[in-house]
Amino acid sequence: MKRVYLDHNATTPVSKEVLDAMMPYFTEEYGNASSVYSLGQNARHAIDESREIIGNAIGTEAADIIFTSGGTESDNFAIKGVAMANLNKGRHVITSAVEHMAVLEPCRFIEKELGFDVTYLSVDKYGMVDLNQLKDSIRKDTILISIMFANNETGTIQPVKEISKIAAANKIYFHTDAVQALGKLPVDVEELGIDMCSFSGHKIYGPKGIGALYLRKGVKIAAFQHGGHHERSKRAGTENVPGIVGFAKAVEIARRDMKKNEALFKNLTKKMWDGLNKNMKEIYLNGHPENRVSNTLNISFKYVEGESMVLNFDMKGIYASTGSACTSGSLEPSHVLNAMGVPPDLAQSSVRFSFGYENTEEDVDYCLSEIPPIVERLRKMSPLC
Ligand SMILES: *Cc1c(COP(=O)(O)O)cnc(C)c1O
Repeated sequence: MKRVYLDHNATTPVSKEVLDAMMPYFTEEYGNASSVYSLGQNARHAIDESREIIGNAIGTEAADIIFTSGGTESDNFAIKGVAMANLNKGRHVITSAVEHMAVLEPCRFIEKELGFDVTYLSVDKYGMVDLNQLKDSIRKDTILISIMFANNETGTIQPVKEISKIAAANKIYFHTDAVQALGKLPVDVEELGIDMCSFSGHKIYGPKGIGALYLRKGVKIAAFQHGGHHERSKRAGTENVPGIVGFAKAVEIARRDMKKNEALFKNLTKKMWDGLNKNMKEIYLNGHPENRVSNTLNISFKYVEGESMVLNFDMKGIYASTGSACTSGSLEPSHVLNAMGVPPDLAQSSVRFSFGYENTEEDVDYCLSEIPPIVERLRKMSPLC
């Protein structure tokens, strides 16, 4: 059976180039980067080079990159670390209602455990935050603004530069979760005025279990893990050398191919949306019509449960998801679509298709022939119809 993987916002395969770059660091070059002999120093050198590549790709110095276990850890580190280190400055944080759980849950944690107040900014029907609401939410005791770069469910892009200006004018740290932006949009932390920025390897054809936090010099933050002096003594633990090397390779490739991929994604998502929309009634696009990452297509198919579509698509070898991988399975409607004011029945009937560079026009043709009959059949069975 044909297999069409359309869930790249959940994870991606490791590309061949990335795997090839990693392999020596599992076998011959297995040294501990803290060891002084040459085998250890080879590992150290590989980490330094990787840090350089990633720093370069986001417009900063290698020294400002801290390797973590992924996007979730980077988000936890930024939010809890800044909260812990700035308790005497204030206990107010501003975020948005459409953040990934890796941001929302640390925010709830600091509310509960550290006595913080967190403002969850609302969004418009496209999922964009309102800059005036942001300005109005700032208080004397606000220490951090954490607003994502691009949304994982809808692809909607936030006005990061405008947010950073507001944060800077008020001397508030600005963190952004750029997991879905990396490799799809230019992310230049200097140009955009970002203080902290989260990245993940496995969303960009790198391995799982590796990520990074960009940490601007001078940001007051508590260490995430205590132990040895790894990662500027902020994140102790023997470095994941193959993961780091693979992540850097993935960043390098993503940067090299970004323009080409964007053109491909635009073409595929347009073909998919136009094709479905032409042949089906009552389907709705969720997210910003233009201002979104080009690989993401979130569609509500009225009258049908997202879960049952995903399971039926699976039987035809089409892999897509409802909302985010973390909330799907819970049968709760997506908090992102909910915040955008999508009615509950339409939120429940949404499916996210997220494309990758290995997808082709033939993949879309296959979807266009398989998806409408599945949805029609489910609609006939639906009590809602
Ligand atoms: C996937 C994702 C994360 C989590 O990254 P992991 O590396 O899987 O922990 C965080 N934020 C966003 C927006 C994501 O898409």
